[in-house]
This record gives sequence, structure tokens and C-alpha cells, in this order.
Amino acid sequence: EISCSLVGSEMCIRDSERIVSSLTLEDDESEATLRPKCMADYVGQDKIKLNLGIFISAAKARGEALDHVLLYGPPGLGKTTLAHVIANELGAQIRVTSGPAIERPADLAAILTNLEKGDILFIDEIHRLNRSIEEVLYPAMEDYSLDIVSGKGPMARSIRIPLKKFTLIGATTRAGMLSSPLRDRFGMLMRLEMYTPAELAKIIRRSAGILGVSVDADAAEEIARRSRGTPRVANRLLRRVRDFAQVEGLDAIPLGVTRKALEHLDVDELGLDVVDKTVLETIAGKFGGGPVGLDTLAAATGEEATTIEDVVEPFLIQLGFLSRTPRGRMCTDSAYRHLGMPLPPGRGGNVVQTSIFDGE
Ligand code: ADP
Repeated sequence: EISCSLVGSEMCIRDSERIVSSLTLEDDESEATLRPKCMADYVGQDKIKLNLGIFISAAKARGEALDHVLLYGPPGLGKTTLAHVIANELGAQIRVTSGPAIERPADLAAILTNLEKGDILFIDEIHRLNRSIEEVLYPAMEDYSLDIVSGKGPMARSIRIPLKKFTLIGATTRAGMLSSPLRDRFGMLMRLEMYTPAELAKIIRRSAGILGVSVDADAAEEIARRSRGTPRVANRLLRRVRDFAQVEGLDAIPLGVTRKALEHLDVDELGLDVVDKTVLETIAGKFGGGPVGLDTLAAATGEEATTIEDVVEPFLIQLGFLSRTPRGRMCTDSAYRHLGMPLPPGRGGNVVQTSIFDGE
């Protein structure tokens, strides 16, 4: 399934071809069916759910729109899902768009003027709005109005159009990519955390139920451990493992088939695939453990810098395999151990942490 092309001596796999990609792939179309609809089915993110629950009840009691919410965190952690859950809990309509889809200020103005009172506007990848479009959002978020300039030069006049009170939910992979005027206009900034294996196992069991397959408890846990803390990856691995079980004529998914399938898919016991390993091995081998700058690393591995930064690194950092320093990326002693590579001279003796979930 994973196609590889050799660039020089480097292996280069586009993120869209990785089984463990946290971005949406073509065969994720059934994602909508697996999406929890209400807060009770939304697994994990307890702090966010607790806070949102309070704000949602308060907004409903006052009959007002919920304050604007910014959701941030790596892809596949449930930002879009949460936006739908919020709308559902509020009994509100949701309008979905994304930063790159809004090309001109007029596009956004049209969307905003069509919103009804209490509606939710969800803008995915909100950091990709360009500045002139962003400026339309400022008065819309702050005063529920649009400022439209008509005419040119000395004849230009600004007209203010009132909007219905709506809630903007923005999603981004990194809050730091948002301009500060935009970030400051959100009443709530919520960072989604990676999921624990126990939470992922719960998601996998729920998804298996919806897909109409049964999965053994130890098999669900195995998939969970290899899903890089990401529900999207967990659901995808479940579907692939189900295919293997089906081919073997099994009704339920056992641990043995799960391990065999994941091995076949090149997902190791921590959820790392060839791309993660290439990035780590490049830092560990070619750059003596680092520090190495992001662009140099991108060039050496043949991966896009943004893919490395948004998709590969968060999980490697989470595992304690990689650190970002002001001078560049460095890999840790535990990364060397996981790769089975000898430590460079002068290194060693640090505490090994193979998983942040150790000791749970
Ligand atoms: P994002 O918008 O952050 O990229 P999505 O909201 O599209 O991520 O989530 C990807 C998939 O993962 C969804 O289709 C959903 O089935 C599943 N998912 C995400 N978060 C949860 C959760 N908290 N509980 C159960 N399933 C989830």
C-alpha cells in the first residue's frame, strides 16, 4: 500500500501515502460515520469537555451565542469532530469552511451575512486565511458587524452592516501560526492533547461496533499503542486490520492477526513508520544526533518541512525521541536505543523514557 521512491539513497514517501498519516487520506471517507455526535461519545480531552460543558450550558441559559473558540493541536486529534459536537450540544447549525477555501474578502462576507443567530461557523486551517480576509473577521468577531468600504479615494465611505450573533470555531495545527490580532479575538483557546492508549482503545472498540466487527480487547489495545496518540490513525489501522482478519475468514479480530497486519503495514510497536525512522536516523546518523535545522532536515530526508513539523515531530517529541532546541532538532539517547544505533561518543547515561505513558 505504501509506495516508495528512491531519491538518491534516501527513501521518500509522501505523507498522503503513509498508513500512519494523521492527515485525512482517501480511504478515510467513512470518517463521518465514525464521528461521535455528542459530548458523551467524545472520548478523552476531559479538561476541554469540562470547560466547554460549562460555557455551553451558560450560553444556552442566557440565550446567547457561545464565545468564539480556537481549537489547536496536531491533525487527527478531533478538532473538526469537536466543532460538530459543540454545535450539536448547542442545538445550533454549523457551517463548515477552511482557510484555503476562502479566496477573497467578499467570500467571507457572503458567508457571514448568511449566518443565523446562534449559528456556528467552523473555519479549519484558519492560519491559512490571508491578511485582507482576516481583517474582515476582526469586527465580525468583536462587534458582530461587517465594515464595507464603498467608493475609492476621497469619496470612499465605510458602511457598517450588522451581523447575527454567531460563534466562530477556528482550528489550526499550531496556535503560534495565527496572527496575534486574530488569536486575541477568541474567548477560548483550547489545546487538544494526544490520546492515551486506553482512550484510543475505547475509540477503537466504539468504531469496531459501528463498522460491525468485533475486536478482542488485547487486539484493540495493540492497535491503540501503535496509533501515535491519534484517533484518525487508530480508526485507519482498525480498518486495515479488519481487512486482514476478513481475508483470513475471521469474524472477530484477534491479537495475532493484528500484530501480523501491523507488521505487514510497517508500523512498529510504538507506531513509528518508515518516515519517522528516516527522520530520526537522519538526525542520529548523518548529523551526529543534531542539532540540525528544519530546512536542512527536510532537504536531507526529502520530506516537506511542514510535514516534518506538523505531523512527524509532535509524536516523536511526545515519545521523548526528539527535542526542538533554539539551534535545531536533536534526537535523544532513547531514540538511538529504539533505532538500535550506537550512541555517538560522549553521549549516554541519560534517563531513558520510551513512552510518556510508562508507569500508567
Ligand atoms: P482534526 O479535525 O483534528 O484533524 P477530526 O475531528 O477530523 O480531526 O478527527 C478524525 C477522526 O478521529 C474522526 O473521524 C473521528 O472519528 C475520530 N475522533 C477524533 N476525536 C475523537 C474522540 N475524542 N472520540 C472519538 N473519536 C474521535
